[in-house]
Amino acid sequence: MRFDSKTEILILIIGAGILLIWYVFRFVGNKKYKKKQLIDQKYIESILKDKVTFFQQLDQAARNKFIDRVSYFLATTMISPEKGAIITDQDRILVAASATIPLFHFDKWSYENLDEVIIYPSTFNERYEIDTMDRLILGMVGDGVMNRKMLISLESLRSGFSNNLSTHNTAIHEFVHLIDKADGEIDGIPSYLIPQELVKPWLKEMHRSIEAIKRNRSDIRDYAATNEAEFLAVVSEYFFQKPKKLEEDHPILYQLLEEIYNRENESVRH
Ligand SMILES: [Zn+2]
Repeated sequence: MRFDSKTEILILIIGAGILLIWYVFRFVGNKKYKKKQLIDQKYIESILKDKVTFFQQLDQAARNKFIDRVSYFLATTMISPEKGAIITDQDRILVAASATIPLFHFDKWSYENLDEVIIYPSTFNERYEIDTMDRLILGMVGDGVMNRKMLISLESLRSGFSNNLSTHNTAIHEFVHLIDKADGEIDGIPSYLIPQELVKPWLKEMHRSIEAIKRNRSDIRDYAATNEAEFLAVVSEYFFQKPKKLEEDHPILYQLLEEIYNRENESVRH
C-alpha cells in the first residue's frame, strides 16, 4: 500500500493527536489519584492520639474538629514523595496535623496558597539536591517555579513528632511561613492573624528577643535571630511544642503568640 504525502501528514497529525490525548488523560488521572488521599478517620485519630501532643490536650469536641480539618487537608492537598522517599499514611497525617495546628482556631482559614507538599527522603541544598555535603535545608516554602509548593525532608517531619523534649518541629515551621506569606510578604508579621494594635508590641518584643539570642541569653534556637520571618517561625514551633515552658521563660512573648494564634478560646481538657 502506498500513501501520498497528504495522507502521510494526516496520519502523522492523527497519531500525534492520539498521543497527546493519552498523555493529558494519564496526567490528569494521576493528579486526581494523588489528590484523593482518603484515610479512615479512626486511623487518623489513632495516629494523632499517639504522636501529636497538641491533639492530646484537646477535649473530645475539639478533637473531632481537628480530625475533620486533617481529613479536609488530605483531600485537597497533594502530598508527593520524591527522590526515592517512601512515605506512609502516618507521614501524610503528620503533614496535615502540622498544617492544622497553627490555624486551628481560625474556622474560616485554609491554605489557599498551597497546592502540594513534596517530601524528600533527607535534607537538601538550594538546588534541591540530596546527595551533597551542603544539604542543610530541612524544609522550605517554594518560590518562582516552586510557588504554591512546600518541601520538607521526611527525617525532619518525623522527628518533629517523635521527641517530646524538643521545641523543634520543621513542618509547623514551614506552615507558619506560609501563613506569614499569605499577606504577600514573608516578614514575620502575619497580617491576617495579628490584631493591628499588636504589631508594634510584637516587633518590640521580637527585636528584644533577637538581641538576647545574639548575646547568648536565651534558650530560643539561634536560627530565630536570622531575621523577623525566621523568628516568627521558630518561636511558633516552641509555642506549639512546649507552651508551658515558653510561658514560664518568655511570658510576654507567650502572651503575644496567644493573641496571634487565638488560643485563649481553646477547649483544653483539664
Ligand atoms: Zn524558616
